Amino acid sequence: MNERTVGKQTVGQRPSEYYRQLTEVLRAALGDPDDLHRSSPLFYTETALEVLLATILTQATSDKNALQAWLAFKKAYTGPEQVLQTSEIVLSSIISSGGLGRQKSKTIRAVLGEVQAKLGEEYSLASLKDDPQWAWTFLNQLPGIGPKTAACTMLFGLGLPYFPVDVHIHRIAKRLKWVSGPVEPAVLQQYLSHQIPAEFQQDLHILLLNLGRRYCRPQHPDCTLCPLKQCPRQF
Ligand code: SF4
Repeated sequence: MNERTVGKQTVGQRPSEYYRQLTEVLRAALGDPDDLHRSSPLFYTETALEVLLATILTQATSDKNALQAWLAFKKAYTGPEQVLQTSEIVLSSIISSGGLGRQKSKTIRAVLGEVQAKLGEEYSLASLKDDPQWAWTFLNQLPGIGPKTAACTMLFGLGLPYFPVDVHIHRIAKRLKWVSGPVEPAVLQQYLSHQIPAEFQQDLHILLLNLGRRYCRPQHPDCTLCPLKQCPRQF
């Protein structure tokens, strides 16, 4: 393996074949990523802006609650203009099933206002696709948007190579010894976005997330039944 610096650590660069095999093992054990993705509100989005808004609704809640909030949002509003015309408190009650309604309402309205101001009345993020560097900078400067939400929008909304790291993937990466010591999720995300080949990023993100829910739980991971026999915990 080649080596690369992640935060204060030097870690190995794995070959593409490692990620291909990992994807296949997880797919065989957990199912088709496209089917697994149906539990996420992101599956029910049509534009990059919708991916961004739906990802805001996934923050600090389950997929089930986030999906309920997203479907209620879609039913209530036909477009961004309508959302901006509504009050923060009304929007908050519409998306309340996802939790943190007031905070998410505020973020959604602020994001839409910023997108309108910077990109125009069509509220389209499509032009970001032409310049990935600018896309990343633009998304991260939006009010209330952090690196994970920006990465989800890059990958699932714009089809640009990025590997979002949530709490599950952060935990699994440490258990698999992809990194050894403490590492911030945003730093790990940058590393994995370069490390994991673009062709596996979307499927592997969905599969690892589901591995974290089913087997590699925060407490009492089910290592006996876990399909990842190459995990250091299996030895
Ligand atoms: S073997 Fe255990 S620690 Fe390793 S990935 Fe599976 S559940 Fe997680």
